[in-house]
Amino acid sequence: MFKRVPGTRDILPGEISWWLKIEEASRRIFSLYNYQEIRPPLIEDARLFNRSLGESAEIVQKQMFLVRNNEDIYALRPEGTASIVRAYLENNLDKTNSFVKLYYTGAMFRMERPQKGRLRQFHHLGSEVIGSYQPQVDAEVISLGNRILTEGGINGYKIKINTLGCRQDKKELSSNLNKSLKDKLGQLCKECQVRFERNILRVLDCKNESCREVVSSLNLSGSHICKECADHFKQVREALDSLKINYQVSPYLVRGLDYYTRTVFEFIHPNLGPQQDALGAGGRYDNLVKDLGGPEIGAVGFAFGMERLLIADSPQPTVNSNKLVYIITMGDAAKKQGVRFLDQLRRAGIAADTDYEGRTLKGAMRQANDLKAGFVLIIGDNELNKDAVTLKNMSSGEQKEVKSADIIEELKC
Ligand SMILES: [Zn+2]
Ligand SMILES: [Zn+2]
Repeated sequence: MFKRVPGTRDILPGEISWWLKIEEASRRIFSLYNYQEIRPPLIEDARLFNRSLGESAEIVQKQMFLVRNNEDIYALRPEGTASIVRAYLENNLDKTNSFVKLYYTGAMFRMERPQKGRLRQFHHLGSEVIGSYQPQVDAEVISLGNRILTEGGINGYKIKINTLGCRQDKKELSSNLNKSLKDKLGQLCKECQVRFERNILRVLDCKNESCREVVSSLNLSGSHICKECADHFKQVREALDSLKINYQVSPYLVRGLDYYTRTVFEFIHPNLGPQQDALGAGGRYDNLVKDLGGPEIGAVGFAFGMERLLIADSPQPTVNSNKLVYIITMGDAAKKQGVRFLDQLRRAGIAADTDYEGRTLKGAMRQANDLKAGFVLIIGDNELNKDAVTLKNMSSGEQKEVKSADIIEELKC
């Protein structure tokens, strides 16, 4: 028998109600905040990600699923932001209305070593606001993420925020780090020794014990942040305070991607374990639109990993709703009548099903129970002769005869 590819999951029917709960809650909230959905393709020109995430990003270095087609190299998208900025520019959304608030859901792909909270195919639920530098937008995006978690029924998470400053500030931090870490290279983990060369900021949020020790001895003062960026961050915090959103300022939070500047944030949850504790994350990317060939405009976004929300929420599998009407027939004539009733009920907007496996009356009743049906509708010769059915209310156990013509009316109330 074939097995699924490591790092992928089958989302089975028992789990779907959880996915729908989160998706429906978030659609409702996105619409409250006046965000519109966008659906870019799953494959893109690989160079889009090299350019946007940075050649040194771990995703670009070793995690992209590449598809070669003659000279072209496509990538299965490893994240949503770059695709959305590409779509924004390619479809001239900036020409019609340069300020847009977008959201998206869908599969993302990264060639990682599969482990808890890390899959090769996973799903993001995210948003991007393009066209503003205002710190209030950062606060809106964080409060939106916060709202999705609370309305999705997810508890026990924390919000961490930081500012990376502008590109100039990031450069200064990198060179400061370069100086102070040079003599401590031996104490860093293998990955951080590579990061030291390629993407030194990432050393700051390494989860390795000895790297954390080195990093906490650095005493980051925030002196690399210029006045404008410090003021921007202050306004983000003030806006969050006025929204009564709890957060922690974490100077070691950097996120791994080149395009982030100024505000970065994470929603972290203890269920995910120390290595991968973020339910979702995001930040500002004020240079990305220009870097991808567009105008100079600010932008900010975030994404949740759906599978991570699932770990944090650990829902119980649920079966169908208790609104289901289950039809049990006895004999061929009753079966034909049952087909007509099924159709009538469904047309009236009432969920209905029947036994297709030749069960006995007792077996069919058991099946109705397993499906958590609200009502069972029984048709036998006796009922056919009276042009009626026997209707059983499964929660009260009450049973009565109902005229065929009155069934819909009876079930609707
Ligand atoms: Zn700055
Ligand atoms: Zn490390």
